[in-house]
Amino acid sequence: MATDYDAPRKNDTDDTESIEALKERVPDKLSGAVDAEDADNPGGFELAGADLSDMELDVVVLPPQDDEFTCVSCFLVKHRSQVDHEEKLGPVCKECAF
Ligand SMILES: [Zn+2]
Repeated sequence: MATDYDAPRKNDTDDTESIEALKERVPDKLSGAVDAEDADNPGGFELAGADLSDMELDVVVLPPQDDEFTCVSCFLVKHRSQVDHEEKLGPVCKECAF
């Protein structure tokens, strides 16, 4: 009985592996150009995603300096001299005050 339960599980794993192996082989047999396009798209997405998250982390981690502030309207970090007035949410720069 125990062996019966184990057998299907093994087959499931094998199926998944063989399907992935087929995915790589089938386009190659059909046409080299199609294979290149298929392989390029997922790779590009992954790279772009990694790059964007890196940039976002950089911006979030960087705190405003003592003589700087983050405008609550345009969300840009500006020098203190650019503060026009303070609102409940925080400082507003001169450009956004107009
Ligand atoms: Zn602003």
